[in-house]
Amino acid sequence: MRSAMHKVAIKKNDTVMVVAGKERGKSGKVLKVLPEKAAVLIERLNFAKRHLRAGGPHGKGGIVEKEAPIHISNVQLLCSKCNLPTRIGKKVLEDGRKVRICRKCGEAIDE
Ligand SMILES: [Zn+2]
Repeated sequence: MRSAMHKVAIKKNDTVMVVAGKERGKSGKVLKVLPEKAAVLIERLNFAKRHLRAGGPHGKGGIVEKEAPIHISNVQLLCSKCNLPTRIGKKVLEDGRKVRICRKCGEAIDE
C-alpha cells in the first residue's frame, strides 16, 4: 500500500525559492506545508483567483486572490547562509540533535 503522505523537509516559515513553473526565480516565506499534497503555500506567490459564490461562508460573492499551493518538487530551500536555493541534507549533531543542512555550503539551517 502506498502512503499518500510525502516526506516534506521544508517547514513553515522557511524561505524558499521557486525553481520551476510560472513563479520560477521568486522566493518567499512558507505560510503552510500541506504534506498530504506534498505542496507548500508561499507568501504572496502563485496567486490564483477564486470565485466566491454569493451566500457562501463569507456572505458575499466575488473574486478573491489567494495563494495556491506549489508542489515541493518546484521549490528549494533558500539557504540563509550562502543565499542559494539548495537541497536539504540531514546531520546529527554531537549532542544528538538532528538538523537540516544546506547541501551547498554545509551549514546548518536549523539553529
Ligand atoms: Zn548554504
